[in-house]
Amino acid sequence: PRHIMVCGGTGCHASESPEIAALLKEALNQRGLSDQVEVLQTGCFGFCEKGPILEIHPDNIMYVQVSTTDVADIVEEHFIQGKQVERLLYVDPSSEQRLASDFPFYHSQLRIALRNCSYIAPEDIREYIAADGYQALAKVLFNMSPASVIEEIKKSGLRGRGGGGFPTGVKWELTSQGEAAQRYIICNADEGDPGAFMDRSILEGDPHSVLEAMLIAGSAIGATHGFIYIRAEYPLAIHRLEIAINQAREYGLLGEKILGSDFSFDVDIKYGAGAFVCGEETALIHSIEGARGEPSVKPPFPAQEGLWGKPTCVNNVETFANIPPIILRGSDWFAGIGTEKSKGTKVFALAGKVNNVGLVEVPMGTTLRQIIFDTGGGIKNHKSFKAAQTGGPSGGCIPTKYLDTPIDYESLISIGSMMGSGGLIVMDDSDCMVNIAKFFLEFTVDESCGRCTACRVGTKRLHEILTKITEGKGTLDDLDSLEQLSKIIKDTSLCGLGQSAPNPILSTIEYFRDEYLAHIVDKS
Ligand code: SF4
Repeated sequence: PRHIMVCGGTGCHASESPEIAALLKEALNQRGLSDQVEVLQTGCFGFCEKGPILEIHPDNIMYVQVSTTDVADIVEEHFIQGKQVERLLYVDPSSEQRLASDFPFYHSQLRIALRNCSYIAPEDIREYIAADGYQALAKVLFNMSPASVIEEIKKSGLRGRGGGGFPTGVKWELTSQGEAAQRYIICNADEGDPGAFMDRSILEGDPHSVLEAMLIAGSAIGATHGFIYIRAEYPLAIHRLEIAINQAREYGLLGEKILGSDFSFDVDIKYGAGAFVCGEETALIHSIEGARGEPSVKPPFPAQEGLWGKPTCVNNVETFANIPPIILRGSDWFAGIGTEKSKGTKVFALAGKVNNVGLVEVPMGTTLRQIIFDTGGGIKNHKSFKAAQTGGPSGGCIPTKYLDTPIDYESLISIGSMMGSGGLIVMDDSDCMVNIAKFFLEFTVDESCGRCTACRVGTKRLHEILTKITEGKGTLDDLDSLEQLSKIIKDTSLCGLGQSAPNPILSTIEYFRDEYLAHIVDKS
């Protein structure tokens, strides 16, 4: 049958996509077409700017900004009369392409972690299995040794997508070493950057890919239990994850020995209460243990002494989503994508003053210009690009002169920002960079756990100075203090939150100093 894929990501979900899907089924049924056209709710299409979205296969037609009142016309015109519903058709403004597969938004992307989002119905394990799901697990259990699995992940060059960029295979190897009565796998789904929704979308659109990866990691490392630490503010992701876990249990993949093997693994969901610092792995572990979610000094690293003192491997959602394709297609395939030191792709949540706000996945080494102007369709309202913030509140603002920098972990650090987990916020020429720095700092002031003085007190002092400057009462001495204090906080904070909190200030002072000076009335 033909398929209508209705986007079921949070954005479209909030704009009545479940109601649209239900009405489509009802209308098709009434017209006697229900055996010829199947309606599926998928994960996020990424093209959130134009939601609610639906795509019709194999017609290659995408209808955008669909509402419940459009359902009758879609059934009548598209399926009965065989013509397109012109007013709902997306026609790309730069290329005038009308076919979904030809839109520049998708053309410039390579979807590995997002491969199944918009392609399968995430609430049905059979859809995942039909898309080669759990085949990587079978390969690992029946054709590979644990050491060769770890070697394969090391050779692939996959690095942690949560922001740290630590080599995933090395982390697996470290966790597998030495004697231990128990080891744990943790999936870090505590995505907290403002504007970021990469991990949420993967869990909503393809939860089994994360479960399969956790099973693979468990078998390679020697762990029999895993935890998914997810924000309680992600109800749809939690709902789909619960369904996926129950279905995996019904299929004998979780909770009991997998048929033909000696391996068993089970997963529990733990809910985070929204503290940004709990994305830091030691704070996250303390939170699961029921303790206060505060980071601790490393070493010992979680790979040595993690959850309840046992070796623990913490990987982020997007990192896990890359594992099954690497096992199935091989490390050489994955290592052939990206740059010398950053392999594969990266998912970005593209937000701010860009035309195509949404979720995109591009090969490492793609330039910011390509992401913002090709995939993102350029700046909204014909304004000019001013800066892009990568890495959320921990990152820095990147100015126009670095638009052609190929994006990877090292290049972003070299220009004063960082990859972070994948938030990418675009600013135009009407944005005040001092206010932007203040906005991100307000977030880190709120989210500091208070354990160390530099972060707890220092970020508050930074905020006071920034407020003074934005109110036109600042002096050149205040600007110096801002820089000096920022450097002290970076050097003396315990965890990544404090160490990176001054980045938005330092990068905006470096690249947009004139805007700070414009706020300072007394320049004597
Ligand atoms: Fe807590 Fe900030 Fe210190 Fe991290 S740097 S431990 S968030 S006070």
